[in-house]
Amino acid sequence: MSHSQQLFEQAQQTIPGGVNSPVRAFTGVGGTPLFIERAEGAYTFDADGKQYIDYVGSWGPMILGHNHPAILDAVITTAQKGLSFGAPTELEITMAEKVRELVPSMEKLRMVSSGTEATMSAIRLARGYTGRDKILKFEGCYHGHADSLLVKAGSGALTLGVPNSPGIPADLAQHTLTVNYNDIQSVKDVFKELGDQIACIIVEPVAGNMNCIPPIAGFLEGLRSICDEYKSVFIIDEVMTGFRVALGGAQAHYNVKPDLTTLGKVIGGGMPVGAFGGKAEIMDFIAPVGPVYQAGTLSGNPIAMAAGLAALNELSSKDYHADLTAKTKQIAEGFKAAADRQNVPLAINYVGAMFGFFFTDQEQVNTFAQVMKCDTAKFNKFFHLMLEEGVYLAPSAFEAGFLSTAHSDADIQATLDAAERCFAKL
Ligand code: PLP
Repeated sequence: MSHSQQLFEQAQQTIPGGVNSPVRAFTGVGGTPLFIERAEGAYTFDADGKQYIDYVGSWGPMILGHNHPAILDAVITTAQKGLSFGAPTELEITMAEKVRELVPSMEKLRMVSSGTEATMSAIRLARGYTGRDKILKFEGCYHGHADSLLVKAGSGALTLGVPNSPGIPADLAQHTLTVNYNDIQSVKDVFKELGDQIACIIVEPVAGNMNCIPPIAGFLEGLRSICDEYKSVFIIDEVMTGFRVALGGAQAHYNVKPDLTTLGKVIGGGMPVGAFGGKAEIMDFIAPVGPVYQAGTLSGNPIAMAAGLAALNELSSKDYHADLTAKTKQIAEGFKAAADRQNVPLAINYVGAMFGFFFTDQEQVNTFAQVMKCDTAKFNKFFHLMLEEGVYLAPSAFEAGFLSTAHSDADIQATLDAAERCFAKL
């Protein structure tokens, strides 16, 4: 029995399912999750000492690779001055100014401790600001596990096949309207009927929790103009795409301006951080200036701010994104070419430092319905073959892959060589 298997058995005695977040349990792909002991650059090392080229990157935060020296240094130096004060610090101003510099639509912002808190707070703010209860989201988009948002959600919930979780009151869920991603007509139809009751639209600007689905031309722009027409708040959830699809996020890449933005993952450099922000007029609706309550004991925690700020400073110090984008293209197109050579039908999507591949003979995958037609059994087999080869992909057919600045050309070539051997065995 491997050490990971031993640890998994032990973990299940005290931790439900042995994990602190469901998708980690390998439930979708089967088998035993790897227990990770350490990570460095593009690699993770499991409890049995095996090295993997890592395309999960802690589900997104590690865009500079693991254990980046600038982040590590910032954390250690800041920790020496105290771990948490529950009082304002200058570091929080520096962080807010840096975020606003990179994402100018965030005129004012507030820090929280996770992506879930960011989206939950943004939704409450949109409801408070508009005085409306209903929200509109898209099937297959995941925005964290707040009650209003865990309605027909993707990510872990989709992987486990329980899109609507027990424990969420039907009375609340009824206020969440869910329509098709990349289908602007379905949004128009709902707004025609209920537009004056809808507080906000929330969208993943590139859906990354049903594999990787970029927006089709005109989709995000269409959402913007519908929100303008009906005076609803347009929330772009950049928890995954922020600082990843481009330095200024997907809103910079696609040139669409939301009213509110939510951030997580990269903004914490590996520490638990999220943020939400946007138009000053809306943000001033939260306490203590406005009536909408929102708070957090550890919000703006100095260590978390130091780590996140170091990550953002490093990311904006040179044009990392041109290189990330080129490498992402190389890996996605390389997968496709290798699959073609092995007669394995495969579709790919990629944008910025995010990629996805689909076992399907559909030429393109742009919708949730198309994602659901893909061959997950084949993905699961491929996933385990790649793991044996020392390549760590997300353990679910419904998650995007992530590149980091630490992935070298040699890492990518090794991954593509491994992929070709694995395609041949399918
Ligand atoms: N929004 C999006 C787009 C996400 O991908 C995620 C997490 O994967 C979240 C929100 C929730 O973030 P967290 O897991 O930090 O609560």
